[in-house]
Amino acid sequence: MDRDGTVNIGTPTYERVDSLDKVRLLPHTLEALALLASLKYAIFFVSNQAGLAEGLITWDDFEAINNKILELIRPSGVTVLKSYVCPHGENATCDCRKPKPKLLFDAAKEFGIDLKQSWMIGDRPSDVMTGINAGTKAILVKTGVPTVESREAIYTAPSLLEAVQYIAKDTK
Ligand SMILES: [Mg+2]
Ligand SMILES: [Zn+2]
Repeated sequence: MDRDGTVNIGTPTYERVDSLDKVRLLPHTLEALALLASLKYAIFFVSNQAGLAEGLITWDDFEAINNKILELIRPSGVTVLKSYVCPHGENATCDCRKPKPKLLFDAAKEFGIDLKQSWMIGDRPSDVMTGINAGTKAILVKTGVPTVESREAIYTAPSLLEAVQYIAKDTK
């Protein structure tokens, strides 16, 4: 799953979280993640962090922010196995920036994940396309700033909770 704008509140315009005091979970995130934890999926963050390339944040900042988010979601009982990051700029020609699927392929390889039985959840069409490009099912959550549409998503959810409820129904 995507992180900023999906699990925690993304900041306006570029939806970047560049300091610890901007870290807040979206409403019902803990409830959503508790349900997700019960479904026994392996869970990963997959995040574009162009702020690293632009010098807005350092790797230490990224680690601090990410650890803070992991700490905030801990009460849900969910375990994020790894946080995958593209640290390159928006116009970079790297092979890891979403919607490129490389970070999902990396997770699949590293943890033996069957992408066909996996889901990508995010607040941007690029998240949806990352999932589709990697062969997963993909859900758009309308919790980004601003909210957007994606025709490619298998389902568009008002929030992460509805997204996880959809996955729960599909998984049964
Ligand atoms: Mg996002
Ligand atoms: Zn990259």
